[in-house]
Amino acid sequence: MNSFNEFEANQILNIPLSWRLPDDKKVWSWERNGNYSVRSAYHLLKEETLRDIPEPSTAGNTEIWKSIWKVQAPQRVKNFLWRVVKRILPTRCRLEQKGVALDPICPLCHDGEETQEHLFMHCQVIQRFWFLSPLGLHVPTDVNFFQWMEHWLSNSNFMATQLFSLSLWTIWKMRNDSVFNKKSPNCMNVVQNISVMAEEFNLACNLITNVVSEPIISSDVDNKWEPPPVGFVKINIDAGCFKNNYTCWGLIGRNHQGVVQVAATKRERMSCSPMLAEARGLRWCLQWIKDHNFQNVVVEMDAENVVNCFLGKINIVEIDLVVADCLDILFSLLNVSVLAVKRCKNMAAHSLVGVAMNLGSHLWFGNVPDPVSSIVLSELIVCNE
Ligand SMILES: [Zn+2]
Repeated sequence: MNSFNEFEANQILNIPLSWRLPDDKKVWSWERNGNYSVRSAYHLLKEETLRDIPEPSTAGNTEIWKSIWKVQAPQRVKNFLWRVVKRILPTRCRLEQKGVALDPICPLCHDGEETQEHLFMHCQVIQRFWFLSPLGLHVPTDVNFFQWMEHWLSNSNFMATQLFSLSLWTIWKMRNDSVFNKKSPNCMNVVQNISVMAEEFNLACNLITNVVSEPIISSDVDNKWEPPPVGFVKINIDAGCFKNNYTCWGLIGRNHQGVVQVAATKRERMSCSPMLAEARGLRWCLQWIKDHNFQNVVVEMDAENVVNCFLGKINIVEIDLVVADCLDILFSLLNVSVLAVKRCKNMAAHSLVGVAMNLGSHLWFGNVPDPVSSIVLSELIVCNE
């Protein structure tokens, strides 16, 4: 036993021995049957070559990992993207390389081996998918799959990265449905789901409940402010119209722990309808985000009409122009989304409006004035429970 170290000794002792003690023989361990084949040797060499390339695709470029993290999509989709970039999706080629005996031909088009590159780019069925998808793409021929992914995931328009990610995810689901449930791929049907998924994700507070790292256990959680995902800032805004021709706004930004990053108030001598005041509040907030170079922000407000108008679901002439301004600013921002919430989830911003009336326009970093701080404190306790 002295010839081997402990690890080696255990490996040897764990070799399953035949009870019949036949003669030793040579085995090619990359084929299930132990016989050498050109195909398995080819894949072995190919895998070796890939291994020589540092980190998948992007040779030391960490941007693609950061991009994945920033995509506004359910956690399972991000996890999927991570597996794609790691090249570990169990495509037929990948499984064959791992020693699973199967036919590596693409199950969708039956024309070419099913690599990730084929499945997501070159498969004829999938090229049709991309064309029909909400992005309406022609698959490029001058870049490889990872360059293509990097291009889309680093897009500054969050909806573009979101739709691209959801499309990849949908392709993989369609492929699995075809392989495991014998459903024939129907691009027309599945592409419709992409927009629905995106809309549901962006509209519902799903953005928060899906991604928040720790579940919040509280009986009245539905009525209380919820923290944003890790790495995001949630900015709550509110507006108020006062009798003496003052309109006031409040804005408060907190991190995933509920800790205040910033708060601001604004007071103007003007009168307008509450809805217009809310729309102007959103424009003020988005401009504020732009001026202060914030990114990864979830904006919440309790004016549902304004948010629906902003999302293009309804059209309200009174606030049309202000909403157009908002959209204009939004396109220069990175990872900023706007959600409607119930008033009871927007209490800190609501309280700041009162402060704005008394104090006028102010800016705080890391703290908030008195009546607001107690609300923040109570919400802080909620998210640490
Ligand atoms: Zn194919």
